[in-house]
Amino acid sequence: MAYRTSKITTLSSKNNRATSVLMIYTGGTLGMVYDSKNKSLVPFNFDEILTNVPELHRLEFELTILTLEKPIDSSNMNPKNWVEIAKIVYDNFEEFDAFVILHGTDTMAYTASALSFLLENLSKPVILTGAQLPIGIARTDARENLITALEIASAKINGRPIIPEVAIYFNSYLLRGNRAKKKESSQFNAFRSENYPNLAEVGVTIDYNFPFIRAYRTDLPLQLHENLNHNVVILKLFPGIKQNLIHNIFNTSELKGVVLETYGAGNAPSEGWFLEELKEAIDEGIVIFNVSQCDGGRVLQGTYQTSRKLLEIGVVSGSDITTEAAITKMMFLLGKEDSYERVKFNLETDICGEMSV
Ligand code: ASP
Repeated sequence: MAYRTSKITTLSSKNNRATSVLMIYTGGTLGMVYDSKNKSLVPFNFDEILTNVPELHRLEFELTILTLEKPIDSSNMNPKNWVEIAKIVYDNFEEFDAFVILHGTDTMAYTASALSFLLENLSKPVILTGAQLPIGIARTDARENLITALEIASAKINGRPIIPEVAIYFNSYLLRGNRAKKKESSQFNAFRSENYPNLAEVGVTIDYNFPFIRAYRTDLPLQLHENLNHNVVILKLFPGIKQNLIHNIFNTSELKGVVLETYGAGNAPSEGWFLEELKEAIDEGIVIFNVSQCDGGRVLQGTYQTSRKLLEIGVVSGSDITTEAAITKMMFLLGKEDSYERVKFNLETDICGEMSV
């Protein structure tokens, strides 16, 4: 991934003991301008950031900005980009105390989830943020999101980072990255974490929710994973779904995993043909991960007769995981493990705070 870096002169520039933050600009609305020729929003030259947020000069920490050569709308994000972003964090891990990633909101929850798996034993903050309105617009939410994300990333207690994990900061809330979901495309409150408490709430003060912030070990080095297998699919059930559709999806060449979005507490049709299709796929070595269409609550396979059969044929329960975390976890495990049993076992295991087990 081609990029360039530039150092911002801040209040702390002369104090070499100051906290250092690397801000990675990937694209998204935050840094977009209206292109009258194309009649749409397109990424702008991020070097203009200082014109739009002169407050950056007043920061009490060192700030380095890394800008991707080609910033993207996050709808164009893909697993290759996730690995590249994780590698940027990994390569700069010793040099910086914290990382802030500016990212489009559309797929931010997927990227945050993927990074949480790719960066094993993370012990420093990796905070993603973005905006609903471009930074050049007077009423923009970008300025507050950006400045607060930087402040949270640089926050320490007794020399240790307060948030040693991948998180999303947006509109007054700090959420665990692999628990967040984009919920809103018009209002400013774009993200929510339905099944895990907020890590911090921001008003006049920043109130951290300490018991829910991930603990970390200083004796384990950061490990970068670079293999994601995206021969996977998200299949959302709906009343009336047809057998040939399911059959064709399950028989897609090279398919290795299916995130099955079921109803309520993990329920699915109990019709014979449906269960047969699932069973055949499992026998072929395709792993099926049961995730609920409900944002709140969890999958409990076996509570209803309509989910007991799923349990019996070997569908894996996703508990309270989000679809975004489920699909990226599946890519990660399929890229890492070589046996079906290991993938299945680890899908059911909480790896980095993504699900309650
Ligand atoms: N389409 C934009 C993106 O995700 C939307 C945003 O940034 O809010 O990149």
